[in-house]
Amino acid sequence: MLQVDGYEYERNTTCVTCGHVMDGNRGVGLISHDMEEGDISLLCGWADHTMKDYLLVCLSTVMDRFPADYFPKSLMPGRTVRRESDGSWILEQ
Ligand SMILES: [Zn+2]
Repeated sequence: MLQVDGYEYERNTTCVTCGHVMDGNRGVGLISHDMEEGDISLLCGWADHTMKDYLLVCLSTVMDRFPADYFPKSLMPGRTVRRESDGSWILEQ
């Protein structure tokens, strides 16, 4: 479960991810939360996506592919975080 300030995302929350993550070719490198829509996306973070790369899945489908400590401890609502090569997460916006 991903903790977000004030609330937590349930495992069955719908999220947007990309085929690169689902294929196991890339890790999650960019996590963002849309304040208005409430949507969350866990993407590889590369800039080479086309529409066919995006997938809608349950949050657990993505998170279960990684160790629990892979993800940031929390994600402020409406913010985006990017994973650095050392495994830390930095606030992007
Ligand atoms: Zn991708």
